[in-house]
Amino acid sequence: MQATMIKIERNEKMEKAIARCKTNHPKVRRVDASTVKVYGHGGSYTVKFAEPRKGLRLASCTCQATGLCYHIPGAMAAPTVIAVAPALPVSTANERENACLLKPQPKGFIIDGWSL
Ligand SMILES: [Zn+2]
Repeated sequence: MQATMIKIERNEKMEKAIARCKTNHPKVRRVDASTVKVYGHGGSYTVKFAEPRKGLRLASCTCQATGLCYHIPGAMAAPTVIAVAPALPVSTANERENACLLKPQPKGFIIDGWSL
């Protein structure tokens, strides 16, 4: 099933999602340049980003939410450094252990130059 792509724009919905993200402070792990795994309370979700044309940024998430979920701003705040894939397969538990805990920074998250 193709996940719905949501347009990334700063609006009220995004503000709400960011607020939820700050409350839930999920763990995030970058998979590649356009994919981030987000570990929320209910499990792990994959957020994918796309930029079909300049200025139009889209994101999709594998969670149940039909609209903008907090995983997307969480994924946007993920470090841009791509984690080196481990040589050996790791269990999901280890994967979660090694994920980066997204905590509100003193200055807030920096997402796309937005200070949140
Ligand atoms: Zn989600």
